[in-house]
Amino acid sequence: METVKVYSIETKKVVEIHTAFCVENYARKSLAGLLFEKNHPNYCRKCGGSGLITYWDDPSAAGVGLSGGQMEYADPCPVCIEKDVCPQCGGQMIFTESDCVSECGCGYKMVYGEPVEGTYEERPSAPECWCFDYNLYAEVK
Ligand SMILES: [Zn+2]
Ligand SMILES: [Zn+2]
Repeated sequence: METVKVYSIETKKVVEIHTAFCVENYARKSLAGLLFEKNHPNYCRKCGGSGLITYWDDPSAAGVGLSGGQMEYADPCPVCIEKDVCPQCGGQMIFTESDCVSECGCGYKMVYGEPVEGTYEERPSAPECWCFDYNLYAEVK
């Protein structure tokens, strides 16, 4: 893999990136992702298999006087759950209205809009490279 020489502000030395840590981390995460896709060939690409789309928002942004900070929100995935499609296997979900339970033959279960822990796996997040953290490094021309 190609490396780049950078000057570390922290150590005041020129270092080469990608670091061994970065390369290993990248390989491990790529592998985990491939393995997940092998085990769940029909998982929902939109939500990554959980059935929820999570996002962060700042409820105080509108100036309503709440203390600042990010809140995590989760919406049902429009591609799978909202269409009664299982986010894990792409199968048909069975919805029981009285208990507000959605279930799939593969084991995936959602109760009151929350996926039940242990009934699903999420696709591991894509590998990220932190080599170019410019707080630590300044590039050497
Ligand atoms: Zn989905
Ligand atoms: Zn399923």
